[in-house]
Formats: sequence, structure tokens, C-alpha cells
Amino acid sequence: MEARHDVLIVGAGCAGMRAAIEAFDAGADVALLSKIHPVRSHSGAAEGGINAALGNASEDDPETHAYDTVKGSDYLGDQDAIQILCDEAPDDVYQLENWGAVFSRTEDGRIAQRPFGAAGAPRTAYAADITGHVLVHVLYEQVMKRQIPAYEEYFAWKLVMDDDRCQGVIAWDLLNGGLKSIGAKTVILATGGAGRLYVGTTNAYSCTGDGMALALRVGVALKDMEMMQFHPTTLSPTGVLITEGTRGEGAYLLNSEGDRFLERYAPNAMELASRDVISRAEQTEIDEGRGIDGNVVLDLRHLGADRILERLHGTRELAMTFAGVDPIYELLPVRPGAHYHMGGVDTDVWGLTSVEGLYAAGECACVSVHGANRLGGNALMETIRRPCRGLGALEHDRRGPAVHRGRRGARAQGAPRP
Ligand SMILES: Cc1cc2nc3c(=O)[nH]c(=O)nc-3n(C[C@H](O)[C@H](O)[C@H](O)COP(=O)(O)OP(=O)(O)OC[C@H]3O[C@@H](n4cnc5c(N)ncnc54)[C@H](O)[C@@H]3O)c2cc1C
Repeated sequence: MEARHDVLIVGAGCAGMRAAIEAFDAGADVALLSKIHPVRSHSGAAEGGINAALGNASEDDPETHAYDTVKGSDYLGDQDAIQILCDEAPDDVYQLENWGAVFSRTEDGRIAQRPFGAAGAPRTAYAADITGHVLVHVLYEQVMKRQIPAYEEYFAWKLVMDDDRCQGVIAWDLLNGGLKSIGAKTVILATGGAGRLYVGTTNAYSCTGDGMALALRVGVALKDMEMMQFHPTTLSPTGVLITEGTRGEGAYLLNSEGDRFLERYAPNAMELASRDVISRAEQTEIDEGRGIDGNVVLDLRHLGADRILERLHGTRELAMTFAGVDPIYELLPVRPGAHYHMGGVDTDVWGLTSVEGLYAAGECACVSVHGANRLGGNALMETIRRPCRGLGALEHDRRGPAVHRGRRGARAQGAPRP
């Protein structure tokens, strides 16, 4: 092997960088490897926000968050995993804030939370409509601060197996050419989604499901691969995402007859129904001839220029750049598009796969906390949740954040090094 580490993380989006920070703080020699520069990872495209029951905007608690997530998953999510995710979420958001994430605020200075689809309370903490961009940069700062090395522009194409366990990665050096073999006691796959399987998608060209393929080739099962989420508001014609935050702020969906057609499909939740419900409703309207050039339209005009400029300025820029329309004055043409892969590398709640030494985290993994349908804002939270077992630092205590908080950054006595 040309290089060796305790922990090698393939992928440097939110999931990869968060895992690197945790492993480093646990005392491991850790390195990141990414086919693109870390801050160009697709996590940076996340707009709407990250879910945690902070209860800042109205009453909320992790139990309600878990209930909404189980229901939103069409009851197919792993309820133990969901409970852990929702219990730990508030502490993880405060951790991000302490690291410097500039979340939008309420009038009295607390972290603001917006309503998202199928959430029982306004639960989505956000930084305007550039949440992913903010989180990627905050995590990268933490990676830099710890001087965690990153193999940038290295394409992982094979896992090294020996003695029935994963021992490292063989990667292609995209800048200089040639192969590099990197040994590791623990390999964590954090390679993101596979949206590029579809023609119409919100995903970047880098989202090609590489980690899933790497795991499958060494015999790890992929789970829930049929569960692909279609987002109801992708901008026509490019597929660029128009965040659910627009509907959280009060935007309407209209058909060619000017009707808020969701009255017929989801009369209570309307534009805040879950994504699968709205996507199917849109496609039905389009198929039955009430679309406009294969789209429906999203109306933000009644929100007013001030609110759009303050909270949705990124959306406005995207709309003007990619569709030539200004949402302050005009309707946005939108349609459903492939957005998020609920399926992925089969792991337990700590990210461990069936192969010793091989873990997976973030969108490429499937615990599953999303079941058949992910709630908006839960994916970023899943990437931020700290992977524990195998990193050797944190006990597997599920009693909640307080237990972990005391040990953050410390190596638990007697815990084995990875
Ligand atoms: C447009 C958009 C908006 C979204 N908005 C939200 C939102 O508001 N809230 C929310 O919760 N979720 C949102 N999501 C979902 C969420 O952003 C993603 O699920 C999450 O960011 C994925 O993070 P990740 O770290 O798993 O993967 P990524 O951020 O995609 O990172 C993958 C990493 O793996 C690397 N990689 C991949 N293959 C290889 C390889 N073969 N070799 C080496 N490196 C490799 C890449 O270089 C990259 O560094 C959104 C998704 C999209 C597409």
C-alpha cells in the first residue's frame, strides 16, 4: 500500500466530512478521498434546511419528529433508527451552530424554523435557501482546522478485501493519472446519491451511485433500491431544484386552469403534503391535459418582493438564470424529477455493513430512516448524525444527546482504536 490510515472516508460531502471530524476527534488517523473538491460536493446544493425538533417556531419534540418521519416513510422506515435520528437532531444542529453555521433567526434571535412537507410543526432550520452551501463550508473549516488530509480528485473504483475484511481502496488519480492504493483499517463510504440514473433529476453529474456499486461488488447487499424520491418542484427545462422552502413560505401550485389542484388530492396539507403525493398529483394533472408544456406552475408572487429577496434569493437567482423568469413577477414552470435515493448500502444504525471494516453513511447508505419516502430536511440531518461504532470512541448508548455530549471529542476509556 502506498499510504495507510486508520480511517479512510470515500466522499467529502456533509456525511464524509462529518464522519472525518468525528473519527479525528476520537483519536484516529483519518483521511478523506473525493473525486471532486470537498466543497463542490453535492451537499452544497441543498437549499431548504435541516430538521430538528428545536421547538423554536412552535411546540415540537423529537417524538413528534419521529412520528412524522415514520408516517412519511409510509411506515417502511426502521423505527429504532428514526428514533435515534430524531432524538439526536437538536444537539447536532446546536453543534453546527457552535461551529459557525449562520442559521436564519427568529425576531427574538433563536434559530428560525420553516414548515416543510408532512411535518407536524415548523421544524426545518435553515440558512436562507443556501443551507447545504453553509453546512459544507462550516464542515470544511472544521476539517481544515484539524488538518485532516484529503485526497482530492481521486476516483475510488475498488475496495481492497483481505482476510474477509475491507482493508482499503484503490483509486484513480484524476489529476495526474495512475492508480493509488490506500490502506485503512476502516473504510467509510459517503459517496452520495445516484440521481443521474434518471434523465430528469435535481442531482449533479457527480451523483452516480459509485459507493453503492463498490459495496455491491464486495458482496454487501443494497436495500430499498426501488425507493426513488421524485421532487415535485424541479425547474423546467433543466431539472434544477426549486426548494420546498418556497411552499413552506406559502407558494401555490397551479394548473393550466389556474386551479390550486392540490385541493383535490391533499385538501388539508395542500402544498405541504409529502413529496410523493404532490409529485403524483402534478403528473396526473399533466397527463390529463391540465399542464402547460409538460409542467404545472409555482406561484410566489403573493409572497412579495421583500420576503422573496430575504428568504428565497437563491431560488430567484436560479429561476432567472435557468428559466429566464423572475418569481417576484412571474410563474415558475415546474414538474416532478428524480431527487433522492432512499435506498443504498445496507447498514445497521451505526453505519456498519455486513463486511467487517466497511461502513456507509449519508445518501449512499440505507439504514433505513426514510423508508419509502424521505421527508424534506431529514437527509441533511442523516448526514450530520455522528457515526459511532467502529470509530472506537463513543459507546453505543442510545439514551440521547446528553450522553454523547459529555464525551464529544474524547476517546472513551478502554475503547479500542479503529
Ligand atoms: C438540489 C438538492 C437539494 C437538496 N436539499 C435538501 C435540503 O434542503 N434538506 C435536506 O435534508 N436534504 C436536501 N437534499 C438531499 C441532501 O442534500 C443529500 O442527500 C445530502 O447532502 C447527501 O450528502 P452526502 O454527503 O451523502 O453526499 P454528497 O454531498 O453528494 O457527497 C458525495 C461525495 O462523494 C464523493 N464521491 C462520489 N463517488 C466517488 C468516487 N467514486 N470516488 C471518490 N469520491 C467519490 C463526491 O466527490 C462527494 O465528495 C437535497 C438534494 C438535492 C439534489
